[in-house]
Amino acid sequence: MDIRKVIEKIYNEVKPMFGRGKVADYIPALAEVNPRQYGIAVASIDGESFGLGDCRTKFSIQSISKVFTLAMVMRHLGEELWESVGREPSGTPFNSLVQLEYEHGIPRNPFINAGALVVTDRLMNLYERPKDSILQFIRENADCDDIYFDRNIARSELETSSRNMALGYFMKSFGNIDHDMDKLIDVYCNQCSVAMTCEELAKSFLFLANHGENPFTGERILSVSKAKRLNSLMLTCGFYDESGDFAFRVGLPGKSGVGGGVVAIIPGKLSIAVWSPELDSHGNSCMGIETLERFTTDIGTSIF
Ligand code: GLU
Repeated sequence: MDIRKVIEKIYNEVKPMFGRGKVADYIPALAEVNPRQYGIAVASIDGESFGLGDCRTKFSIQSISKVFTLAMVMRHLGEELWESVGREPSGTPFNSLVQLEYEHGIPRNPFINAGALVVTDRLMNLYERPKDSILQFIRENADCDDIYFDRNIARSELETSSRNMALGYFMKSFGNIDHDMDKLIDVYCNQCSVAMTCEELAKSFLFLANHGENPFTGERILSVSKAKRLNSLMLTCGFYDESGDFAFRVGLPGKSGVGGGVVAIIPGKLSIAVWSPELDSHGNSCMGIETLERFTTDIGTSIF
């Protein structure tokens, strides 16, 4: 099957669908992004890659960064990590506070904001210069040095971070956050602001499509077992309270961000990144999910 042809067909079918969602506006700098942008990039573990549309435009990866920080922490920590963050779908919005109280400050999973804050807090214990290390990790996996924090987005998110602060302080009251909240939120907002293209993003996820090993350098990023776990978490929790629907429609492990990016992998084969900033009511890219659903349907391949 010629995957490039399939992607071209899907791109042409989905492109007229602008207008179904709206850009995230709770972070003011994200509200300024032109909604009518759409890019797709595919990278395979044997080194082929191609892209279409706005696949070379940088955008803010937002919650997709939670996959990188989790991988960085999982490299160092074993079972003890799962004492402070769960691995069940939350069924609640990404920034929800409700479960935290009756679950004693232990977030449901590492991909809702509360869970990601715990992961970043642990990362700050493990890496002396956490922000530099996050960039370095992403750059190495994307094989690209031109990946940076978007200062404008980071500042805008920092200025409007009351909800994330509340999540952090609440967990701190249960003893589940070690660091000073200002420092933690600074690292978290910067990791969310990372600017990447679809091409870079597709490449940077290949270690997860390749059972934990970077296919280009041969470096083992995660053990086979840890890569399995991270992919399982993406399948069950990668799309907030739309995770079940994403699994139903697409059948792949993946992760989205409110910047409009979506990445998914087919284990042993490839990684695909789609970006289009118009979001549905759950905070996931409308055209991103539509593209991936058509992709697994048309190529007749998913993880099932
Ligand atoms: N920076 C965003 C926040 O914390 C990330 C949310 C997302 O992409 O889902 O609100």
